[in-house]
Amino acid sequence: MKIPLKIRAALYKGPGHPLEISEISSPTPGEGEVLVKVAATGICHSDLHILDGEIIPPPEGFILGHEISGWLVEFGPRCENPHGLSPGDPVVVSWIIPCGKCYWCVRGQENYCPYAAARMPGLVGLNGGHAEYMAVPETAVYPIPKGLDIHSAAVISCAYGTAYRALKEAGVGPGTGLVIVGVGGVGLAAVELANALGARPIVAVDMRKTALEKAKEFGATHVIDTTDGDPISAIRDALPQGADVVYETKPNPDLKIALESVRRGGTIIVTGLGTSTVEIPASHLVMNGIKIVGSLGYRPRVDIPELLSLAAAGKINPQRLISHIYKPEEINTAYEGLRQGRHTRALVIWNTTP
Ligand SMILES: [Zn+2]
Ligand SMILES: [Zn+2]
Repeated sequence: MKIPLKIRAALYKGPGHPLEISEISSPTPGEGEVLVKVAATGICHSDLHILDGEIIPPPEGFILGHEISGWLVEFGPRCENPHGLSPGDPVVVSWIIPCGKCYWCVRGQENYCPYAAARMPGLVGLNGGHAEYMAVPETAVYPIPKGLDIHSAAVISCAYGTAYRALKEAGVGPGTGLVIVGVGGVGLAAVELANALGARPIVAVDMRKTALEKAKEFGATHVIDTTDGDPISAIRDALPQGADVVYETKPNPDLKIALESVRRGGTIIVTGLGTSTVEIPASHLVMNGIKIVGSLGYRPRVDIPELLSLAAAGKINPQRLISHIYKPEEINTAYEGLRQGRHTRALVIWNTTP
């Protein structure tokens, strides 16, 4: 595989500024790193928090893009190649890269690994995948099974990973009565995964008609349009006791619907990284035994191989989640589309062949 000297990348130019497509030198993989030829990156809501300056801005020239698939190109020095990969193999790149030996990692909570928190490709500390090539620690890459579409597999590493971990943290399994508030990319992935896990009923709540149509396709047993009136009574029709689990996927959770629709003794799970604040009467939590659980990302070493296997077995279909495909030079249009709620999930295609 011939590696060009110069590559195209979308560079971050500060809060409130559009990304800028520029030519930069091709990255060289350092010790323990691999070079990946990026196939696709997903357009994720977390990026908007960075673009809008809601979380600590990365330095100018930083490369966003944390939902990534590509082809492994070459190994840097002192790689151990734990997956037995060869150049040209398709991989998913995880934005959580656990150290494997800290307090959290050894307890199976590697999504809270402080080492990982300081080095998240496309989010913190490490350049991401909005580029034709990227260098990442080899522990970030996971092989994509044969037969899966490499481009849409990118969404495994954020939308599906986040949804899957959230459902697991809430104990969703066969017969769980589930409400999903917000069926954008993560919400739809959650509907599809909940269906694969045997949850019933699966009630999708949103204000966008097209999103709710999609939710039905993805396995929602009931869809509730919040613009049609009181969603709580509609949820109670499907779940008279209330929901065992409510997963609120909104980027800025308010928990309004969640607190009114979760059953006594039930669980609310949230994954949004927005700036919202939620006020809850303490007695309401206590009297109703409500568990509110935050969940960040996923446990890559467990969840990514499982998700790729589910996709290979046809239990989930990442390709179906993709509603829009953009060229690199359209990347700002892609983020605008996300802001306006037009996508289920959008991809930027950086390369079409290995
Ligand atoms: Zn994301
Ligand atoms: Zn760790």
